[in-house]
Amino acid sequence: MRKYGFGVDVGGTTCKIGLFETTGELLDKWEIPTDTSDSGSHILDDVAAALKKKMAEKSISAEDIQGIGIGVPGSVRGSGFVNVCVNLGWKNVPVEEELSAKMDGITVKVGNDANVAALGEMWQGGAKGYKDVVMVTLGTGVGGGIIIGGKILAGAHGAGGEIGHITMNPHETDVCGCGRKGCLEQYSSATGVVRLAKQVLAEKHEASVLDDRTEVTAKDVFDAYKDGDSTAAKIVGKFAALLGRGLSVVTCVVDPEIIVIGGGVSKAGQPLLDAVQKAYEKEAFSVCKEAKFALATLGNDAGIYGCVQLVLE
Ligand code: ZN
Repeated sequence: MRKYGFGVDVGGTTCKIGLFETTGELLDKWEIPTDTSDSGSHILDDVAAALKKKMAEKSISAEDIQGIGIGVPGSVRGSGFVNVCVNLGWKNVPVEEELSAKMDGITVKVGNDANVAALGEMWQGGAKGYKDVVMVTLGTGVGGGIIIGGKILAGAHGAGGEIGHITMNPHETDVCGCGRKGCLEQYSSATGVVRLAKQVLAEKHEASVLDDRTEVTAKDVFDAYKDGDSTAAKIVGKFAALLGRGLSVVTCVVDPEIIVIGGGVSKAGQPLLDAVQKAYEKEAFSVCKEAKFALATLGNDAGIYGCVQLVLE
């Protein structure tokens, strides 16, 4: 094993880059803007320039580098091919081949951003020490990553681990971002919590601090829940029941050792984790109830960690 690895987490506005020792220590991290002009055709040049600059600055040669892992917000198929990244303007980009050519032949591995975040949490975060992991990221939407035997389940079409689009409610009338109706993401994301809150607050309910808010946020709901607000508890109960049920569907197939919850909504911390675990255990298949629950610990750095883990496999 060589001494260093780079992790590059490409987002729609910035690329986060990390220089790591392959033992797991993050030595340096920084960001560069993502240039999405000309169908994103400058992105890999910009990344290569940033990596070379850092190598020169730290006197690191190509021979010292185990590889470069890169996470992208889109579907990744076998052999390092990115089919579509809407946010980057990419269509059919052979990322591994192109970036490797720009980096003097250093090995490059590409993965979907939600999947590499799960891999990062497995390597150095909330799921450290485990090899069978389900990670769910609760942000604006619901992202997912499944690790089996230490490896990402990418699937035949790059859609492995799309936990957010499991159909929870076939009677839903609102449309999900994916064009279908009743997806988990419509209830268990930050926007989903707000939707559930509006529904509960529109019904008859006990006086709540949430009544005074003009625009209720997911954070307001969880803060009120922690303060013992009974209406907030009802909203969180609905949120947790749906997420717990969704996860019980996933674990029937995957049977993981641990379920890791990350993303902005997970900042609500242990009370959220406890509510979801309780709801999950009510619905889970008998032996799958033993799955552990943990909060993600790497925050926005999970992606760069996971990218490096990609090149250590
Ligand atoms: Zn959907």
